[in-house]
Amino acid sequence: VVQAYEHFDTEVVAVRPVGASLVRVTFGGLPHLTSDGPDQRVKVFLPTPGAPARAVPRGADWYQRYRLLPEHARPVMRTYTLRAVRDGQADIDFVRHGDTGPASRWATTAAPGDEVVIWGPDARFTGERGGADYAPGDARWQLLVGDETALPALSGIVAGLAGDAVARVVVEVPDAADRVDFGAGEGVGVEWVVRGADPHGVGLVKAVCAQAPPEGPGYAWVAGEASAVREVRRHLVRGCGMDKARVYFCGYWRLGEAEGAQR
Ligand SMILES: Cc1cc2nc3c(=O)[nH]c(=O)nc-3n(C[C@H](O)[C@H](O)[C@H](O)COP(=O)(O)OP(=O)(O)OC[C@H]3O[C@@H](n4cnc5c(N)ncnc54)[C@H](O)[C@@H]3O)c2cc1C
Repeated sequence: VVQAYEHFDTEVVAVRPVGASLVRVTFGGLPHLTSDGPDQRVKVFLPTPGAPARAVPRGADWYQRYRLLPEHARPVMRTYTLRAVRDGQADIDFVRHGDTGPASRWATTAAPGDEVVIWGPDARFTGERGGADYAPGDARWQLLVGDETALPALSGIVAGLAGDAVARVVVEVPDAADRVDFGAGEGVGVEWVVRGADPHGVGLVKAVCAQAPPEGPGYAWVAGEASAVREVRRHLVRGCGMDKARVYFCGYWRLGEAEGAQR
C-alpha cells in the first residue's frame, strides 16, 4: 500500500552553485516523487561516518524505529524544500552555512553518485498528502518574507504568482551575490536585505516593519530563522492587526540549535 509520503532511494546527478551561499543538488531516479506546492517540504536523509543514508528504517512505523537506532547508526535527517520536480528528478537548494551542520557540510562536498534518501510525497497516493502550506486563498495582496533558507520556496511562490498579483517580497541573504531575479510581475516589489556581518534576522525584521501592510484582505507567508519569524508575525498580528489566520509562519531553523535537538 502506498503511503502519502514514501522513502525514495536516490542519488546525486548534478551539483551547481546558486548565488554565493546556496548549492543546487539535483537528485535522479525519482519517478514517483511529487510536489504539491512551492513550499513543499521533504525530509532528506544523509550519511554519517557510521551509517549510509539507506539505513533509514522503512514502513509505517519507520520514525519510531529511526529514533531507536543508536546515534552512530542513524543517518542524519533534515528538512528541505523541493525547489523543482521534473522528469524523475528533483532539485533541492541547500544553504552552505559552514561546517557545523551535517547537511551544510554534506552539501559543500556533494558529488554525482552520492546516495541519499528523500522522504516525500508519492504521486501514486491519491488522498491528501500534506506538507505544502502556501495558501493565499482570496487575498488581494501578499507579503512574502524569508531568509536564504526560504529562498527556494519564495522563488517558487513568486514564479507562480498571477500576472496581476500584488505582492511585497522581503528577503534577507548573507551576500549581495545571493540575490536572484525572480522574474516578478509589475505588481511585485522585491526588497533584498544583505546581512553581511550583521546578526541574523535583524535587518529582515526592520525592513518588514518599516512599512505597514495595505488595506483589505491580505496574506503573509513568513519563514526563516525562528526568532526573526516570531518577531515578524508579532508585528503583523499585534502591531498591524492582521488576522492570525492570514499569517502563515514557520521557523525553518533556530540559531544555535541543530534540527531535531531536544529542547
Ligand atoms: C519546512 C522547511 C523547509 C526548509 N527548506 C530549506 C531549504 O530548501 N534549503 C535550506 O538550506 N534549508 C531549508 N530549511 C532549513 C534547514 O532545515 C536548516 O537550516 C537545518 O538546520 C540545516 O541542517 P544542518 O545539518 O546544516 O544544520 P544543524 O545540524 O541543524 O544545525 C547546526 C548549527 O547550524 C545552525 N544553522 C542551521 N541552519 C543554518 C543556516 N541556514 N544558517 C546559519 N546557521 C544555521 C544551527 O543553528 C546550529 O547551530 C528548511 C526548514 C524547514 C522546517
